[in-house]
Amino acid sequence: MRIDVLTLFPEMFPPIFGASILGRAAQSGIVNYHVHDIREWAGNKHNKVDDRPFGGGPGMVMMCQPVYDGVLAVEALDPRPAMRIVMSPQGEPLRQRRVDWLAKQERLLLIAGHYEGIDERVIEELSPLELSVGDYVLSGGELAAMLVVDSVVRLLPGALGHESSAAEDSFASSDVSEGGSPGPAMGLLDCPHFTRPREWRGRIVPDVLLSGDHASIAQWRNQQRLERTRQRRPDLFASDP
Ligand code: SAH
Repeated sequence: MRIDVLTLFPEMFPPIFGASILGRAAQSGIVNYHVHDIREWAGNKHNKVDDRPFGGGPGMVMMCQPVYDGVLAVEALDPRPAMRIVMSPQGEPLRQRRVDWLAKQERLLLIAGHYEGIDERVIEELSPLELSVGDYVLSGGELAAMLVVDSVVRLLPGALGHESSAAEDSFASSDVSEGGSPGPAMGLLDCPHFTRPREWRGRIVPDVLLSGDHASIAQWRNQQRLERTRQRRPDLFASDP
């Protein structure tokens, strides 16, 4: 997969894209990251990429032309068509189902807004997928874009040590069912996890996990997933959360 990011703050990305699972995925050639400074396409000698909002009010708005020229120039760097994504608190709330879908694309191009946001006309012109990472406002789309990249890249074949580990995480769609009734559409929360020592401050790891009985362990874990989801996130049982 090729991932391009357009941002006014490219320096924010290398520490995240270079570390841990995202870094290893790039090193092993599963993914390539390309971070671009929108100022490259400012097209004026002051490198101006934002201006005051029409109609007045506080803050600055990112101008159409640098964003548009940047997207077209970056798209031309590779023949594969890019899935255009604009980070926005007004976008589709990011969920695991969408992440699964993004992980199947060949190329993603993410655009991070800053200040008051991006001129509406360039968003209309590019007709991107607008994605929100939650019902709160960030100062810029950079961290939001990193969340998208992290959630997608860990799903690429070979990115995680164990092929099956993503399938067992919270929200994974391979849901369990109870007595024939289907689980929630978007997957359950994960079960609790334990490691050594077996006893810590008087707290003992559930016996079943030490039993070596794989069927009982799987059954216990499924039960835990259902109970946790019911207690903590009953909304996940709605047909289309
Ligand atoms: N005035 C805008 C917010 C601008 S915040 C509004 O109220 O809708 C500046 C930039 O941060 C946005 O352009 C977007 O790229 C990013 N951003 C802020 N909150 C976000 C969120 N919850 N999800 C995704 N991107 C977000």
